[in-house]
Amino acid sequence: MMKLALFAGDGIGIEVTKEAVKVLKYLLDLNSINYEIEEGLVGGASYDAYGKPLTDETLKIAKDSDAVIFGAVGGTKWEPLPIELRPEKALLGLRYELDLYANLRPAKVYDDLIDASPLKKNIVGGTDMLIVRELTGGIYFGQPRGVEDLPDGSKKGFNTLVYTTKEIERIAKIAFDISMKRRKKVLSVDKANVLESTELWRNVVANVSKSYPEVELSNMYVDNCSMQLIKQPTSFDVIVTTNLFGDILSDEASMASGSIGMLPSASLNGKKGMYEPIHGSAPDIAGQNKANPLATILSVAMMLRYSFDEDNLADYIEKSVENVIKNGYRTPDIYSGAAGLKLVGTSQMGEAVLSELKNAVHV
Ligand code: NAD
Repeated sequence: MMKLALFAGDGIGIEVTKEAVKVLKYLLDLNSINYEIEEGLVGGASYDAYGKPLTDETLKIAKDSDAVIFGAVGGTKWEPLPIELRPEKALLGLRYELDLYANLRPAKVYDDLIDASPLKKNIVGGTDMLIVRELTGGIYFGQPRGVEDLPDGSKKGFNTLVYTTKEIERIAKIAFDISMKRRKKVLSVDKANVLESTELWRNVVANVSKSYPEVELSNMYVDNCSMQLIKQPTSFDVIVTTNLFGDILSDEASMASGSIGMLPSASLNGKKGMYEPIHGSAPDIAGQNKANPLATILSVAMMLRYSFDEDNLADYIEKSVENVIKNGYRTPDIYSGAAGLKLVGTSQMGEAVLSELKNAVHV
């Protein structure tokens, strides 16, 4: 039995999760897989109903589930609220409470969307990488931190970059496990020549790699990696790195694919995970049937792969999305106006994936 939590959130989160769940239910029913989906309010929707962005009840639904499907939170309506009541707190609260320490962000370039990338076609074509970012440690959480007054009247700002063996081991293990489902290559990115904590990172990752003899491990300094991502993005497969480096490198890598509406993500604690598109609630297009649901549909594929080891079902979804793109279906964010393209809305895009899936599964 798959126990799923569904938190659609606000704005286009509601529209895109509806399409993703439609696709998911079809596949699970077809394969006679038992599941249970429990919905909860998060973000602005939760604030409107209960006066806070994340209630204990919603948190319990998340804790009791095997995986969470998350839409997006936020919107102009809630911007004047004090920071602890803002919708975005729901996301941070869930990450913290579920201890989602590994953030997975794929960057894949679809041949038929290659023009959407600001990089040259001959460089980005064929890019297919996955960045595994440590999400709950490192300099974003290390103590001591703060801004202090100095005797001369100026100030001192400081943060601490700290990693323990255990923190590094668990994220490295996730990266190696995932690489076994991909091309069996892991690149660990650090700044071991300057930062002792990342020298430890490099050594611990090397130790973990001994349990994965089939996987090829290499190391790269972060400055070089940021250069290589632009120079030859096709050379990367799985990249594992710290919270800060992963934050920056994953945004950089996402530009290879060009559109925010195409990029899924997962945040994991072992097999348990939260799956969401990388975009926000897009108040500018919310409720207009314009949002691209593919990032959320691809997030559900990640859920099947990483939380439930249903790699075949994930492949079906990913292949169907690829075919829909190949067949010219485009929501406005990926529509170029070129001949042969079909401009569609959120629900039509969901339907197009569903009918592709039906063809694929019946072949
Ligand atoms: P955004 O990602 O919501 O939108 C940025 C731009 O991309 C907008 O022009 C939007 O129309 C477009 N866009 C985003 N997703 C799209 C999709 N699926 N299809 C087509 N176009 C899409 O970022 P923002 O405008 O900076 O933030 C809006 C709200 O979302 C804010 O309240 C912000 O705090 C929140 N937010 C939430 C999350 C989250 O829930 N994970 C992430 C980022 C931002």
